[in-house]
Parts: sequence; C-alpha cells; structure tokens
Amino acid sequence: MNRHIAIYPGSFDPFTNGHMDIVQRGLEIFDTVTIAVANNVDKKSLFTVSERIDILTRLTADNSRLKVETFDGLLVNYVVEKKARVILRGLRAVTDFEFEFQLAQMNHTVCQQVETLFMMTSPKFAYLSSSIVKEVGRLGGDISKFVPPLVMEELLKKFASNS
Ligand code: ADP
Repeated sequence: MNRHIAIYPGSFDPFTNGHMDIVQRGLEIFDTVTIAVANNVDKKSLFTVSERIDILTRLTADNSRLKVETFDGLLVNYVVEKKARVILRGLRAVTDFEFEFQLAQMNHTVCQQVETLFMMTSPKFAYLSSSIVKEVGRLGGDISKFVPPLVMEELLKKFASNS
C-alpha cells in the first residue's frame, strides 16, 4: 500500500484551471498524483476518453510526479490495483457536498482502506465547471481564463468540427 500516491478521478471533459489547481495543491502533499479519467459510458461527453488522455498527457508531460490514466468500473478497485489509499476530490459548493458525501461513504464501505480526501476549491475557481466552460465556449465566449491554453486550442478545434 503506497501512502504517497493520490488518485484524482473525474470526467475532465474538459480539464479546467479549477482541476489544475487541485492537482497542483495535491502535489504539495503527495509524491505523485494520478489523474484518472473515468471511462463512463453513461455520461455524454464532448471529448472521447482517448482525446482527454491525449490532452492530459501533453499537459502534464513536464512533470514526472503527475500521471494520467483511465479506469473502467469501480473506482475503489482501480485505487487498490494501483496500491494507493487516497482518492482526491475537489469541493466547490454545498451543492457538490451531498453527492460527494454519498460517493465517499460508498467507496469507504466497499473498501475500508481507501479514504477520500477533499480539497476546497480556491475561491477564484469556485464557479468553474467543465459544463460551464463547454456552454460558454460553444456560444463563442472567451474561455481563455478558464482552461489551460492547450485545452482551449482543443476546445476550439472541437467546436469548429462540430459546427
Ligand atoms: P466528475 O464527473 O467526477 O464530477 P469532474 O471532472 O467534473 O468529474 O470533476 C473532478 C473533480 O474535480 C471533482 O472532485 C470535482 O468536484 C472537482 N472540481 C471540478 N471543478 C473544480 C473547481 N473549479 N474547483 C475545485 N474542484 C473542482
């Protein structure tokens, strides 16, 4: 069991500056942070899982303490398979709380050795979500303050190819 790895799971469709903030703060505490893209077939996404992996791999290429992976099925099984103990999640507002609370309880019940650690959003990212970015971007708004430049480039390409 490795105490120094945190698994940061999510959809990351797309990865925003709010996600990046959690990752960077996570790296202050853990030796490595694995960004784990959920392969959730039920969720309608803008980018495919492989596109998201590709973007994230390029985005994190210069930091060997950051890993990018995808997982299917139960998150706790994946966490145990990685010999990790900690799931890292971000909290923005009370609206996130109920769902996250339920998920963390469920995961802990399924696997007692896995703990979920929550990091409060930095206030400047409190309003930021992947869906808001997609909505504003699709309508032609300026999204440069919300996502890393590489993500913005990929979003603009995606909107152009979808229109
Ligand atoms: P999911 O579909 O699992 O909610 P997301 O990609 O939307 O995945 O989010 C992944 C994680 O990042 C979640 O824990 C979410 O609460 C957190 N998160 C998303 N946006 C922000 C933000 N602006 N500030 C802090 N945490 C965030």
